[in-house]
Amino acid sequence: MDLSRLSAQYHSRQGVSSVDNRLMRDMTLRQFRSGQQSRDELCDASAELLRVATHLGVASNSACPICEQMDMVEVRFAFGEGLPPHGRAIEGEGDIVRLRDLKRAVEIYEVEVCTHCRWNYLLRKSALLSS
Ligand SMILES: [Zn+2]
Repeated sequence: MDLSRLSAQYHSRQGVSSVDNRLMRDMTLRQFRSGQQSRDELCDASAELLRVATHLGVASNSACPICEQMDMVEVRFAFGEGLPPHGRAIEGEGDIVRLRDLKRAVEIYEVEVCTHCRWNYLLRKSALLSS
């Protein structure tokens, strides 16, 4: 996936404030193992996503479900009021605190990326302010 697809997902969302994609991820991986989805289709992190993952990713401590290397990281992107339309990569907890202090409608998208084979998946989206 590239970052424009991620932002397209944000802009087309239908009022769902929190979504956990783990079940969809499991289904995608089953389709891969049974040959219904190719590695090329799934391991398509764009150069920009890989760059963000390399610089800002936090090690996920789990093996990549595709290539089984321990090169998995999680990156977070913020979308919402006062942010660029294509979202902003989160650089650390300080960013989260600053965004929360602004008290704006912001959503955080968590993406796992394997910097070895380029597997990537949108794991979770959640509203920054819970109320
Ligand atoms: Zn991998």
